[in-house]
Amino acid sequence: MTYHGNTSEDLRATLDRLGVSAESLNDGDLVVTSPIDGHELARLPRSSEKDVDAAIANAVTAFDHWRQVPPPRRGELVRLLGNELRAHKEDLGRLVTLECGKILQEGLGEVQEMIDICDFAVGLSRQLYGLNIASERPGHRMQELWHPLGPVGVISAFNFPVAVWSWNTALALVCGDPVIWKPSEKSPLTALACQQLLENACAGFGDAPEHLVQVLIGEEAVGSQLVNDGRVPLISATGSTAMGREVAPAVAARFGRSILELGGNNAIVVAPSADLDLAVRATAFGAVGTAGQRCTSTRRVFLHQSIHQRAVDALTAAYARVRVGDPRDAETLVGPLIDSASLDAMQRALTAVRDAGGDVIGGDRVEVADCEDACYVTPALALMPASLTSVQEETFAPILYVYAYETLEEAINRQNDVPQGLSAAIFTTDIREAELFTSAVGADCGIVNVNIGTSGAEVGGAFGGEKATGGGRESGSDAWKGYMRRMTSTVNYSRELPLAQGIRFDI
Ligand code: NAD
Repeated sequence: MTYHGNTSEDLRATLDRLGVSAESLNDGDLVVTSPIDGHELARLPRSSEKDVDAAIANAVTAFDHWRQVPPPRRGELVRLLGNELRAHKEDLGRLVTLECGKILQEGLGEVQEMIDICDFAVGLSRQLYGLNIASERPGHRMQELWHPLGPVGVISAFNFPVAVWSWNTALALVCGDPVIWKPSEKSPLTALACQQLLENACAGFGDAPEHLVQVLIGEEAVGSQLVNDGRVPLISATGSTAMGREVAPAVAARFGRSILELGGNNAIVVAPSADLDLAVRATAFGAVGTAGQRCTSTRRVFLHQSIHQRAVDALTAAYARVRVGDPRDAETLVGPLIDSASLDAMQRALTAVRDAGGDVIGGDRVEVADCEDACYVTPALALMPASLTSVQEETFAPILYVYAYETLEEAINRQNDVPQGLSAAIFTTDIREAELFTSAVGADCGIVNVNIGTSGAEVGGAFGGEKATGGGRESGSDAWKGYMRRMTSTVNYSRELPLAQGIRFDI
């Protein structure tokens, strides 16, 4: 194992390469620690109520300018942001690792996702297409126009500290909207780095309005002020279902729009005909990757009873090979949990498994040299009795609940019988089973895969889930429409005034 030095030294060097001044990192009382070794990384000033108010006013002014810039020109700014990300991929990836504990490979993957969405948005900047719609009236033309919406408030979670911002920001910018970002209080340093890269891009762009993209630092109170302000027409909020339960009604009460990306409880079904090797690898990656701290982490696996024991043995063997440790080490596959509250929640969930008659393999605390103040665990397999209904809550930790099933209909029902609806997958080589699983009577999630696990989405598709996952969609496909104002416009080029539905009104 390589010793990488304590995280605060590593952080200073990384931030320096990213162009973030270390000076302002100790001016406040929001303490930021690294989950890798528990070291304090910074004490940041929180944004005050006045700061939030000013940021919103500034965004409204920026909107007046930005909405008039032609979309392909707006795309140029996003192209420059993509270039900044390419140039700083290693450093930003390392910062993600330092601040949220992902292994380096995943930190780099997250930055690659940012680059990908920038590329996507640049293309999109020339494709904000509206429909031409057949009018029922002679001499009339009906069309759909898409206009910028206004400032977008982005609230994000700790576990994807930079990708979620880029999904929203790249799209919002080409759509003509300024962005105000309230990152997780657990990962504000990555936000400061992104802001710096964005400012570099703005400098290269030349005439971007001031305050086009801003960052606010703080906890729930800062987010809540954004949520309740009528000058922010769209709130895009990523986090727990509990957070969404507070945000959704507040935004709705002022007739704002929200995109909600909330918790998941994702399942893989492994059918009798499955390629077991693929299924086990995908399940293990989905369940233990990012230490089980992805919204799309695999939380449940339904194994057909005919392959149940073989699959459990293979999963147990795969879990035994997982190296837990400092996420900066190339051999590490599982880094730390974000904090001790997360560790406690995991232990409570495992106690509940044992109380319910289940068996737990793994789930033990691991001591990592020089990281005594951090929370490392071995990922856990929870072998559940057949009689139990499926676990209903998302525990944000590496616990995989293992169930046996008899019929595919039963597996689909049990997959669906939870409040959340983010991601599901089936491993099968039977085309009928695959089609049924993705059909209208199959899995009820926003993302449903065949012979691929539940996590690791590409930017080209719309990302999000149903039910308690919030119903929002971000990233690819036509998710951009959420960031724009749709206008239906009918033009009469005749000399008559025919009314729709043939109504006569002789005045
Ligand atoms: P969290 O809900 O604790 O916090 C998320 C963000 O919401 C933070 O910035 C927080 O300050 C803010 N917040 C909390 N309450 C708020 C309120 N009342 N008003 C305004 N802002 C508020 O979540 P977390 O622990 O950072 O992240 C883990 C959760 O996020 C998991 O449930 C995970 O599944 C979910 N998540 C979902 C997606 C997705 O795309 N569906 C992606 C990543 C994470």
